[in-house]
Amino acid sequence: MPEYKAPQRDIQFVLNDLLQMEQHYQSLPGCEDATPDMVSAIIEEGARFAERVLSPLNSVGDQQGCTFKDGEVTTPEGFRDAYQQFVEGGWPSLSHSPEFGGQGLPESIGIVINEMVGTANWSWSMYPGLSHGAMNTLEAHGTDEQKQTYLTKLVSGEWTGTMCLTEPHCGTDLGLLRTKAEPNDDGSYRISGTKIFISAGEHDMADNIIHIVLARLPDAPEGTKGISLFIVPKFMPTASGDAGERNAVSCGSLEHKMGIHGNSTCVMNFDGATGYLIGPPNKGLNCMFTFMNTARLGTALQGLAHAEWGFQNSLTYARERLQMRALNGPAAPDKAADPIIVHPEVRKMLLTQKAIAEGGRALIYYCAQLVDKVKLASEEEKALADTQLALLTPIAKAFLTELGFESANHGLQVYGGHGYISEWGMEQNVRDSRISMLYEGTTQIQALDLLGRKVLMSEGKTLMAFTKVIHRFCEAAADEPKMRAFVGPLAKHNKEWGELTQQLGMKAMMNREEVGAASVDYLMYSGYVTLAYFWARMAQVAQQKLAEGSGDAAFYRAKLTTARFYFERMLPRTRSLVETMLSGSDNLMALDEDHFAF
Ligand SMILES: Cc1cc2nc3c(=O)[nH]c(=O)nc-3n(C[C@H](O)[C@H](O)[C@H](O)COP(=O)(O)OP(=O)(O)OC[C@H]3O[C@@H](n4cnc5c(N)ncnc54)[C@H](O)[C@@H]3O)c2cc1C
Repeated sequence: MPEYKAPQRDIQFVLNDLLQMEQHYQSLPGCEDATPDMVSAIIEEGARFAERVLSPLNSVGDQQGCTFKDGEVTTPEGFRDAYQQFVEGGWPSLSHSPEFGGQGLPESIGIVINEMVGTANWSWSMYPGLSHGAMNTLEAHGTDEQKQTYLTKLVSGEWTGTMCLTEPHCGTDLGLLRTKAEPNDDGSYRISGTKIFISAGEHDMADNIIHIVLARLPDAPEGTKGISLFIVPKFMPTASGDAGERNAVSCGSLEHKMGIHGNSTCVMNFDGATGYLIGPPNKGLNCMFTFMNTARLGTALQGLAHAEWGFQNSLTYARERLQMRALNGPAAPDKAADPIIVHPEVRKMLLTQKAIAEGGRALIYYCAQLVDKVKLASEEEKALADTQLALLTPIAKAFLTELGFESANHGLQVYGGHGYISEWGMEQNVRDSRISMLYEGTTQIQALDLLGRKVLMSEGKTLMAFTKVIHRFCEAAADEPKMRAFVGPLAKHNKEWGELTQQLGMKAMMNREEVGAASVDYLMYSGYVTLAYFWARMAQVAQQKLAEGSGDAAFYRAKLTTARFYFERMLPRTRSLVETMLSGSDNLMALDEDHFAF
């Protein structure tokens, strides 16, 4: 049966050896207590919960799914109980402000827990995951009263949250949104409209559900400039702060879908429901970006989760499954055949998953460190971190989810036909991973955001905030003979990244379609270079540890070998991306719409 074991050794490597989290926490006001011992204890506890409580429910959730009856949603067996344990363990409050009952720990610790919980059971993890985004939005934009009423209950985990953007006719293009918000005399609003695809919109795991809803005021300008943000509780809070009378919001039905069956995806009907404005009128989309940025990093994590899960299970299988002999003669002559891990193409699939999971972990934890800085560092550091995060968020979201799906497919392929059979869980992993490239902005939309909004509109400044970091690393490591194999290609790609950006910028001045036509290739290229930076850094740390004779030499040698694999087998994918991104828009736009069908 498929299993999950939290990769604590690698997590500790990234936190301590690569990202120097101890110094990072010491430098941030209010985080001094986050010592390595304390962080390790939290991770160990989180790992136990993920492995023992959530992992066994992963296939249960897939098989049973959520059920809908008379407007109520029942989650799969064990989900509710696991959520109670999660709340009792204080996990929802980990990285939220003590002012509202939180533990005040930095986001970068929360992300480690989210990784383990999400890898063990992605569908389950979405319930608290959505709440986390709702909490961040309220913390950033809510009034004091809203924070006291709603945030404290979300932080304690008694209530959960949702994010209600999508409508039947509008997904990517939120400017088309129609849900109405009409003012009442008491300062509240009547919210009317239908939202679809709402994750965790209705369920039986918590006493109340707080919907964060985008809607339009009566006199709002058209398009995205006329959208406001509202809190709409399922049950109205009473004077004592508990869940009171039912509000006019209900689940109309559940979507039947390809994967993540354990998470409820709901059609939500708002029939004049009472809502309260968050932030200024018509600035809802700006406020919602707080939610979306949290969610985007959270979804990037989904790429890592499916890569890690698929890797762990396919590795176990590849060691046990006996088929054919190694090309240079039997590796296990006492057995009827050799384990499939001896075959180069099986190794390629395993190493690809390993390189994506471990590289992805480094990238996401680095982003989480930037989030800590944006929240807590000095103004100067904050601005720098914010710029880097603006660049890296679409890359992490789209690139890691595309590679997470690729990994999940490799995991299935290692199992051969058995991977296609439900019992092994590998086909579930593929199905569950597919959504990550769609929600929180599709890959295409992340790519437009990266190349158009972040890079070209800032005239390359956002890009330079990160290419400078890579440049400095390459310069500093240039004299280390053992780093040549990494620094040479990395520096070359880093320079090329800037040059490609310039070329695309020039083309875009003549024809804006060039941005759209190059965008996904550009994003994937950016992803491969970004991951190369983290793999080069990990190789450097591994070499240093080996030179120092630190224990665990096998771990560091494996790191080095995987880094080499990444540089020699994955980074060269950029060559074809360069060709296609520069091939121009004409090969896409020349065909007349009416002639596509021939
Ligand atoms: C399981 C699931 C859970 C979800 N959870 C939530 C949730 O909790 N809350 C919520 O509000 N929504 C949620 N969604 C909705 C999700 O965010 C949207 O499906 C997504 O944003 C895409 O919108 P759409 O489906 O309308 O596709 P469309 O916007 O219609 O896009 C269709 C295709 O066109 C492409 N496209 C569109 N515009 C462009 C462009 N300018 N350039 C290039 N390509 C373009 C897209 O990339 C896509 O491939 C969920 C969806 C699913 C399936």
